[in-house]
Parts: sequence; C-alpha cells; structure tokens
Amino acid sequence: MYLPITQNEVRKLGWDKLDIVLVTGDTYIDSPYIGVAVIGKLLARHGYRVGIIAQPDVQSGKDISRLGEPRLFWGVSGGSVDSMVANYTATKRKRRSDDYTPGGINNRRPDRAVIAYSNLIRKHFKNTKPIVLGGIEASLRRVAHYDYWSDSIRKSILFDAKADLLIYGMGEKAIVEIAEKLSSDKDTTDITGTCYIAKEKKDGYLDLPSFDRVKSSKQAFAEMFKTFYENNDPHTAKGLCQKQDTRYLVQNPPSPLLTQKELDELYEIGYENEAHPSCRKQGKVKAVDTIRYSITTHRGCYGECNFCSIGVHQGQTVQWRSEKSILNEARRLTELPGFKGNIMDVGGPTANMYGFECEKKLTKGVCRSKRCLYPRICKHLKPDHSIQVPLLKKLRKLPGIKRVFVASGLRHDMVLADRKHGLSYLRELVSHHVSGQMKIAPEHTEERVLSTMGKPPTGSLLTFHELFYKLTGKAKKKQYLTYYLIAAHPGCAESDMYKLKEFISDKLRITPEQVQIFTPLPSTYSALMYYTEHDPFTGKKLFVEKNIKGKQNQKLIVTGKERRSSRSHRKH
Ligand code: SF4
Repeated sequence: MYLPITQNEVRKLGWDKLDIVLVTGDTYIDSPYIGVAVIGKLLARHGYRVGIIAQPDVQSGKDISRLGEPRLFWGVSGGSVDSMVANYTATKRKRRSDDYTPGGINNRRPDRAVIAYSNLIRKHFKNTKPIVLGGIEASLRRVAHYDYWSDSIRKSILFDAKADLLIYGMGEKAIVEIAEKLSSDKDTTDITGTCYIAKEKKDGYLDLPSFDRVKSSKQAFAEMFKTFYENNDPHTAKGLCQKQDTRYLVQNPPSPLLTQKELDELYEIGYENEAHPSCRKQGKVKAVDTIRYSITTHRGCYGECNFCSIGVHQGQTVQWRSEKSILNEARRLTELPGFKGNIMDVGGPTANMYGFECEKKLTKGVCRSKRCLYPRICKHLKPDHSIQVPLLKKLRKLPGIKRVFVASGLRHDMVLADRKHGLSYLRELVSHHVSGQMKIAPEHTEERVLSTMGKPPTGSLLTFHELFYKLTGKAKKKQYLTYYLIAAHPGCAESDMYKLKEFISDKLRITPEQVQIFTPLPSTYSALMYYTEHDPFTGKKLFVEKNIKGKQNQKLIVTGKERRSSRSHRKH
C-alpha cells in the first residue's frame, strides 16, 4: 500500500486531515531503500496519518497545498541524495539526468531542496505547524559546514531553512518520538538524534567554535570539525552547541542504535518496491531498476574513507538484519510482478561488513584515537565471512530464485584478513554471485594519496586481484574486477595520476572507466582538507587541485585522453 499523495486518496482512507505531511526531493518510491518511504510507513504503523508530497513545484503553491496543513508537523527531506550533489557534477556543471525523477530529466529537484521546500511551506501556510528536517542533506549540514558549490562555510541548515527541528543520522527513533511528543504537546528539545535552535547554550554540552569564528579561521574550522566528528557515536558522544549569530544550534547526542529486532521490523512493514502509479505515469523512474529486486542486509560503515559521508550519516557501527528477515524479504521479492528470478544485489554500504562487529565498539563505542581499517585492520575487528556464506547459499536455493548477485562494493583487504573464511567467501562470490563484474574501490594506488583518503596500501589489492582471477579461472567464468578510482582528491597531483596509470596498466593490465573527479561532500574529512589545504592528521600543507581544468585533466590522464598540460609530471 502506498501512503496517500492526493486529497482524494486521503478521503478514500476515511480521513479528514493528515497528522504528518512528508515532503521529498525524490519522486515517491515505496521501497525500503528510500528514507521517506521507510519513515512514512513507520509513522503509519504507529497509528499516524501520513501523506507524501514528492518533488513539489517551488514556483507555485499548487503541490505543497495539495494535502492541506498537517495536524502535527511537516517532515522535509531533500531526497536520497544531497540536492547539490544530485544537481551538479564535481566540476560544477548542471547534471542533465536524475534517477529519482520520472522520465530521468533533472528538472524537478531545486538546489538546496531542504531550504526551498521549507520556504515554500512557510509561504503558503502562515504560522504553520513545526517543520522537521531530515535525510542526508539535513544530516550532513547540521552544524557549520564547508559547501563546495558556494565555496564557503555555511551555517547549520536549520538556520538557513528557518525550521524547528532537524533529525540527523538514521531517524527512525527520533521521528516517532517527535510525533509522540508533538501529539501530547510535550517539549521536543531533549530528543536524541535531533538538533534545534535555542537562545542559550545547554549545560554539559560541548561548545563548538562559533559560526563567525569558523567562517573567518580555517584552523578554528578544523578544530570544530574534529570535535563534531568525534561526537557521533551513541555510546560516547556528548551534546554539542554552536553559536550562530545571536542564537545557538544545539545538537543532542545521537539516537541509540536500533536492535536487530527493530531493524528487521522496518523491513516487515511491507513495501510496493515501485514508484507510486501517478509518478510512474510521468515517466520511467530509473532508480527503481536498481532497488526493486535488491536487498539491504545491513547499515553503517567503519571504513572511514575520508571522502565518504556514510559514517557521519549512518554511523560507524554496522547493524545487520537477521538471516530470517533477509530470507523473508527474498521470498516476497519472488512474488513481485515482473520478477524473473534474479536478486540484483544483496549488500549494504560495504557488502562484506555483514554479520560481525568489534565487541569493544558494541559496548563502549568507536575508538577516537584509532580507526578500524586504517592504516591496517584493527586486531579487535576480526573480519568473519562465515555468516554471509550460508546466507548466500540459502538465498539462491529459495524457490523462484535463479541468481543472487552481490553488486555492492566490498573491502578486499577484509576478505584477505579473514584467514579462516575469506577464501571460501570469495570462492562463493566468484562461483555464484558476480554479475559479470565485481566492484572494488582502491580509489588510488599512490601511498601519499591513499593516506589522505584513509585507504589501505596496494599490497592487498594485488593479492586480491591475483586470487580473484585464479578462482574465476577455476570456476570457468568470464568475469572481471572493476576498480573505482578518484582523481583530484586533496593531496593528489597530476604526477600521482601518471603513477596511478602506470600501476594499473602494468600491474592490473586495465584502462579503467570508473574514474570519478573528487567531490567535497559536506561534513567529511576530505572536504575539510579541500577547504583548508592542510592534512588535518599531520598538520602538513597539502596540494589541492582547485582548478576545474586541472581536475578534468587528472581524470583524463587515467582514462587515456589527457590534454597537454604544462604541469604534467610536476612534483608536489
Ligand atoms: S577496537 Fe579497533 S575495531 Fe574496535 S572500534 Fe576501536 S579501532 Fe575499531
């Protein structure tokens, strides 16, 4: 069942008014992969009347007024991707396509969608109910942050959107608590996993350098970011305050992690795994192809790649679903119209983080002074693929299922570190679960660049490469490794890209096509490096390619069509 998107649908349900209206920058796809769908269905399960307004026109009031004013609150999300990332390439060119828009043309999501939708609500509903922000755009922009697209430090998005509350991270617990408190007229300032604006600082909370200070001092911004980053674990994080103009942004500590039972329950709610029929009428929604027949097995990532935002948003503790819940979802997929027997992906942020975690982290929180995977895998992590192998076996033996693919990227260093089960896991993948290509993400090959990215050195890459092709040969399969690589990351010069090209041509014997130009995502260490041009871990000055042509050229060096540059082979 879809949540209502028109007054007609609201009336058909016998409702006179909605409790909550969710507004999103994506078209309405009812799928466990889509945050707004999960949040909407969860609230509905708790008895609230929820409606969805997808991709409203911001030039008129016709869409935003469609469902009327909610009784409790508005929930606003930019969608599954930060709207500036969705709308612009790494070289700041407007993107033409959008996988979350019917017809695929990028003409429905406004820039800074969270702010645009909040303004739209206030324009058409004076003195309205509270506006609650959520989703990745709000989450990554919850305190002062570097914004690549305006090349400036921006305030918390809560101030710019003039909203009432902001949910950060995976917001299931927070959204239900907000609904409960607002429906009984209770104070909402003590809810974990949320931010709000206050006149005063909050006792016992850490004081981040003010917005004015971090805007004028790169060093203060770096200090602020470190404190922000370190206070993101539900076991150890303190609340944070940051003065912005005359008031304070207050960030309560993160929500507790969901238990496995709670996580399983989110997937038992039942989804259509399809775009709403009225959205489908407007054109094909490409994102549905990727997620319709796929299964998420876990959330969170402890990879801590410095350019990635998953750890800041989903957290660094991996939470996984039970085998039973995953098998049940697979059975449901076999009943969907059009299912041809293939599950397109069984994975998560990193495919092979399913089923094990560091015991210390689970009880005392993530370490502040060291990382789980960098510069080497922590001895307390103990990668263990023994739980994934039987899960994959059971999935492919279910009636109605022909093939099960693992299309999410995996950490090859973790496969090798699991001396007991890593080899049998890889053999299982190679023999049964690769759809032509297996994705791994070394991102670079030069030690200096890898260290600024927080990625492992190339030794494990070569060993994995050899092992993959040996097992592939034995399985008599025609399949390949694909490598994700990044150009123009802070610390990376053209000379590094030439060395990268040499390495992959000589050692891996490929010309890669999956080379992305680095995008500084809000609230990541790499964005901090890009802005400050310093390595925050060593304090050393970093070369940072900021020229658009220079960035493009770094990519072209590897893809084989570089422009001639006077800076070629320049040493940094
Ligand atoms: S002990 Fe090791 S694996 Fe555990 S949280 Fe700390 S760094 Fe990560």
